[in-house]
Amino acid sequence: MLEIKNLHVKLEEEDKVILKGVNLTVEAGKVHAIMGPNGSGKSTLAYVLSGRDGYVVTDGSASLEGEELLEMEPEERAAAGLFLAFQYPVEIPGVGNMTFLRTAVNAQRKARGEEEMSSGDFLKAIRAKAKDLKIDAEMLKRPVNVGFSGGEKKRNEILQMAMLEPRMCVLDETDSGLDVDAMKLVADGVNALRDAGRGFLVITHYQRLLDHIKPDVVHIMADGRIIKTGGPELALEVEHNGYADILAEVQA
Ligand code: ADP
Ligand code: MG
Repeated sequence: MLEIKNLHVKLEEEDKVILKGVNLTVEAGKVHAIMGPNGSGKSTLAYVLSGRDGYVVTDGSASLEGEELLEMEPEERAAAGLFLAFQYPVEIPGVGNMTFLRTAVNAQRKARGEEEMSSGDFLKAIRAKAKDLKIDAEMLKRPVNVGFSGGEKKRNEILQMAMLEPRMCVLDETDSGLDVDAMKLVADGVNALRDAGRGFLVITHYQRLLDHIKPDVVHIMADGRIIKTGGPELALEVEHNGYADILAEVQA
C-alpha cells in the first residue's frame, strides 16, 4: 500500500540532512508503528509524505498503491487516500469545524468521481462519529481547533480521519499530551477504522499507545534511518530498556 524507498530528505533553508535512506512498506490491513528518540526524523517523514513545504527530497521515492506521492500536490495526496493526523494540529480561525469537514469530504468524493454527500447524510454521519469520540456539538460549530484543548485537537484529528475514511492513515504522536481516557478514545477511534483495505503508520515516542492500538510491525527510527524492525515485542523492549540498548546494539 505505502512504499517508501531509500528516502533522503534535507531542509530547504539550511544544509541539514534529516532522513538518510528510509525504507518502509506498509501493507493493506496492517498497522505499522514507528518509535524513536526525539529528533530522529519521525515527524519529518510524516510531513514529507503529506507534502509540506520546507523539505527537499534528494533521493528515493514514496508511493501509495503504486502512485508516486512525492510529485503530487498535498490535496492530490489526500484524494489518493493519504491522511495525516498531526503532532501539532493547526488552528483555522474563521472556518467552522463542520464546514471544514464537509468541504474536505466532498472535495475528496469529487476527486474520486463520486457524488457529494447530502447535508442530511453528512450530519447524521458526523454526529454519530463525534459521539463515539466524545466530541460535543458545540465543538463541531467552533472554528477548527481554535481554543480546543490538546486532547480535543487530537480527538478532532481522529474525527477527520473517521469522516474521510482514508486508505492510508499516518498518525504523528497522536497520543502526546493525552490523558489515559483521551488516549483510549483515540485508540478506539483508530481501531474502529482498522480494515483489510486500510494501512496505518502510527508514530509514537512512548509505548503506551501501542497497548491500545496493537501494531503488527514495529520500527525503530534513529538519526534519519530505520535501525530495527520487529514485532510488538520491540515496543515492550523500548518501554523496559529505553532506546539506548537498541542504539548500542546497532552501532556495535
Ligand atoms: P522527531 O519527530 O523524531 O522528534 P523531527 O522530524 O521533528 O523528529 O526532527 C528531526 C530533526 O530535524 C531534528 O533535529 C529537528 O530539529 C530537525 N528539523 C526538522 N524540521 C526542521 C526545521 N523546519 N528547521 C530546523 N530543523 C528542523
Ligand atoms: Mg515528532
